[in-house]
Amino acid sequence: MTASPKIQLQQLVDLQSVDDQISEHRKILEDIPRQLESARAELEEKKSILKVVKDEIEALQKQRKDMEMEVQGENDHMAKAKTKLPAVKTNKEYTAILSEVDAIKEKVSKIEDKELEIMEVLEEKAKEIPGVEKKCKEEDAYFSEYQQKKEVEEKRFKQELEELITKRKVITDQLDTVIFKRYEKISNSRDGRAVAGLRDNICQGCFQQVLPQMVIEVKVGEKMHQCGGCLRFLYWDEVPETPVPK
Ligand SMILES: [Zn+2]
Repeated sequence: MTASPKIQLQQLVDLQSVDDQISEHRKILEDIPRQLESARAELEEKKSILKVVKDEIEALQKQRKDMEMEVQGENDHMAKAKTKLPAVKTNKEYTAILSEVDAIKEKVSKIEDKELEIMEVLEEKAKEIPGVEKKCKEEDAYFSEYQQKKEVEEKRFKQELEELITKRKVITDQLDTVIFKRYEKISNSRDGRAVAGLRDNICQGCFQQVLPQMVIEVKVGEKMHQCGGCLRFLYWDEVPETPVPK
């Protein structure tokens, strides 16, 4: 026996409600991996500060090492110059060697000053590391927490989706086949919405006016009606009374 139009319409309203929830759940489930991906990218970005500081330290250490080698080279140069001293025969030669040695000393002293500056910077940079490392660890922890939360959420929505699909099957099994096929066709062509409320004389699906006779019949609910504009099944959607301001 076919159910009365009133019952069939109620089944369609229920089906629409379940379908709305299903599409909402699917959207959320699609979003979760994207949210995690962007959180992970943000985490990597934040953690890259640590690498920047470490790279800076490494560059400074290399600079310092180069300077030490340079000083070493200059000192060798100076030692070599000094070995010439015992063999010197004229005052002019002697003065020349001494001024060469002085020039080297000055150069070495300048390099060593620079090296000291670098060591100071290195010391400061090294002090930054523990703080940055701590911050990175915190960010890792935040992310894990977020990830866990999202995984729980995903599990819950998947389970709810399963339940909704079962619920949908129960409804569609009861539905008249012809009506159900029509519902699906409208739903597919109308953005997932095959049922619309009728408020006053306006279809809430396409906002077109409905003929007075149809409005009455939809209100009574003894006949199934589809909107002439969007073809959606219409049900009577009572406008809530707005209190009159005193
Ligand atoms: Zn309509």
